[in-house]
Amino acid sequence: MGYSTQVLRAARETLAQRRADRESELAARQQQAYAKLPRLREIDSLLRQSAAKAAQAVFLSGGDARAAMEAVKQENLRLQEERKALVAEHFAPGWLDDNRCPHCGDTGYVGSSMCHCLKQLCVQEQRKALGAIFSGNEGFENFRLDYYSDRVDPRLRIAPRAVMEKTLAHCRDYARHFTDHAGNLLLTGGTGLGKTHLALAMGRAIGEMGYGVCYESAAGLFGKLEKAKFYPTEEAALEAKKLEEADLLIVDDLGTEMPGQFVTSALYQLLNQRLMAGKAMIITTNLNVEELGQRYSPQIASRLYGEFTRLTFLGEDIRVQKHKMW
Ligand SMILES: [Zn+2]
Repeated sequence: MGYSTQVLRAARETLAQRRADRESELAARQQQAYAKLPRLREIDSLLRQSAAKAAQAVFLSGGDARAAMEAVKQENLRLQEERKALVAEHFAPGWLDDNRCPHCGDTGYVGSSMCHCLKQLCVQEQRKALGAIFSGNEGFENFRLDYYSDRVDPRLRIAPRAVMEKTLAHCRDYARHFTDHAGNLLLTGGTGLGKTHLALAMGRAIGEMGYGVCYESAAGLFGKLEKAKFYPTEEAALEAKKLEEADLLIVDDLGTEMPGQFVTSALYQLLNQRLMAGKAMIITTNLNVEELGQRYSPQIASRLYGEFTRLTFLGEDIRVQKHKMW
């Protein structure tokens, strides 16, 4: 798992900004302190020179390098003590501290692994990125099974609610156990049965775990792919790359976009790319397999039915039900 390039970049920029702010604040406080206590400036200057002094002492010692080094070290300690006492006497605790991250020194990395402070910033940036996609009302907790009838449908011999209980459980499991190779879901069923709601609930939960999530309506998706192909700006290329590389791509309402040859070939290419890379997709659609085959191509229909786990949505349009209640 990894944060998307955008999230990581934003987190690193925040850390760098924080470091710069801290350094300039400290420099300003130091100048104030020097103005108040000239001796402090003297001590800091002597401490800065101590490495050079040590080298010089060794050079001039004429043999007894250890004793010379020791003398410099003792002088250094004495200066540090004096500085500490001076600061403690005149300033509030911590006022002249350099508050860098004690683990990484604000570089964001300890060796080759990411420091806790940068990880935290990634989580914040990820939340911000998700906030731009999700409104907050699309969690699993807001999904209401009571909109689905518990009466057995004589034709299907099962109650819609029983089917939806299974669908909901499957979606929760998918999100909870999401990994880099979680497989793909195809959410099928009529309009207004909660497909988008559950796709978004999964996306949000998976995003909060730190994965890069892309959500697009079918029209938005093909719009972006078209732009990248026919009007290739740097930004358009970046957007298309995100669609190919996100840990999870959600395509909502496949089949509602304007049909055409470009759409079919772009869809086929995107599906193949992501399937080959083993990258997860969630697609929602009102179309069944025959309709998918007719609208796109038999190859696309076969990919969608062969490589995706199908989850069925049954019931009566929830928006119509809500409308009736008013
Ligand atoms: Zn750190």
